[in-house]
Amino acid sequence: KEDSATELKDRKGFKGHDMLAPFTPGWQTTDLHPLVIAKSEGCYVYDSNGKKYLDALAGLWCTALGGNEPRLVAAATAQLNTLPFYHSFWNRTTKPSLDLAKELLEIFTARKMGKVFFTNSGSEANDSQVKLVWYYNNALGRPNKKKFIARSKSYHGSTLISASLSGQFSYSLPALHQKFDLPAPFVLHTDCPHYWRFHLPGETEEDFSTRLATNLENLILKEGPDTIAAFIAEPVMGAGGVILPPATYFDKVQVILKKYDILFIADEVICAFGRLGTMFGCDKYNIKPDLVSIAKALSSAYMPIGAVLASPEISEVIYSQSNQLGTFSHGFTYSGHPVSCAVALEALKIYKERNIVEQVQSICPRFQDGIKAFSGSPIIGEIRGIGLILGTEFTDNKSPNDLFPPEWGVGAYFGAQCEKHGMLVRVAGDNIMMSPPFIISPEEVDQLISIYGAALKATE
Ligand code: PLP
Repeated sequence: KEDSATELKDRKGFKGHDMLAPFTPGWQTTDLHPLVIAKSEGCYVYDSNGKKYLDALAGLWCTALGGNEPRLVAAATAQLNTLPFYHSFWNRTTKPSLDLAKELLEIFTARKMGKVFFTNSGSEANDSQVKLVWYYNNALGRPNKKKFIARSKSYHGSTLISASLSGQFSYSLPALHQKFDLPAPFVLHTDCPHYWRFHLPGETEEDFSTRLATNLENLILKEGPDTIAAFIAEPVMGAGGVILPPATYFDKVQVILKKYDILFIADEVICAFGRLGTMFGCDKYNIKPDLVSIAKALSSAYMPIGAVLASPEISEVIYSQSNQLGTFSHGFTYSGHPVSCAVALEALKIYKERNIVEQVQSICPRFQDGIKAFSGSPIIGEIRGIGLILGTEFTDNKSPNDLFPPEWGVGAYFGAQCEKHGMLVRVAGDNIMMSPPFIISPEEVDQLISIYGAALKATE
């Protein structure tokens, strides 16, 4: 870790700043000057000293259209010049929010959805899921059906409820719970579906999925099916280390959930809009969710916005019962903010016009194959990914169990080497994650692979 800090010592100017930054200090240390990003251009960002970096994480898995898409800027400007703000409470609203809700219901085709609830972030979307589900079950006269099942190593956000839904991690993120007296008691966690790390000797992916589905069923039976309201899952786990579901996993899980009348919430905050090479992660894994959370690429992160899509059954109960049971008293000043909605509408238009899903499909083999070619490295345990999302896990002896001592800071050193060579990746313990913008070109993918290779060589 000291070595990685030495690699980053050239940063100057803002040590001891006035911000209590999110996830302080992350994989680095508060002794370092922070990297101040000053400008973006396509797949690149520039720091305050003018150094250029390939942004291999697209901000935080979100700037899908890169750093300077003029149409998004124009959409924001036009809306700011017309109506910078009006709220959507109490039967008042704005045209961009109505149009965006309609568009979202059209493009989500994994199953028919009923209505859209707007938030400002992924965390708020997942918090809202809990309140929607509780209100729904209260309206249906089943007040005991309130517990949520999430998965170990999942990430659903950092507010009290979304952090509770998030799972424990084997690296920096246990702190999501431990120092905050979480998780909340209504949240239960089941297995992380990471085949490489958790399968038993001789167990196939299908067997592993069967075992996990059985464990899930046992947990439901132990708690009492009448107490379990919903199950939440990312189609591909992002922050947990890019963990893909093993074969047949979601099919088996969905059978169990159906059997006990438990709702499926798909957290598509990272996966939606093309990241996996399909419009939604649900399309990739044949998930028929009751509720969906989206954010990030929804506006290519140019404006903060998130949303919940709710099935017709759920939204109809909430909509009709709000006249009888009492107001669905939940919402944010900025729910459906017109500028965020105008930018999101433009982003969705661009995704459609530029066939962004096909674009991801055509570039992803170069990205996946190029990085997976490093799998033989003696310090790499596993490289895993799909579409334009990829994780590398450093372990010794190719074994999931031979972790490097945390004080060696292998992942931190690799991250510092990437930064030194002009590329930004996500570091979480000895997990490295990448999710470049959807617009990445073949030449930029080659550069990404070359910097990854140089950083790996230095780390070995
Ligand atoms: N859900 C998933 C799957 C995420 O990856 C994230 C953030 O990375 C969130 C929810 C939380 O979103 P936000 O940071 O916008 O609150």
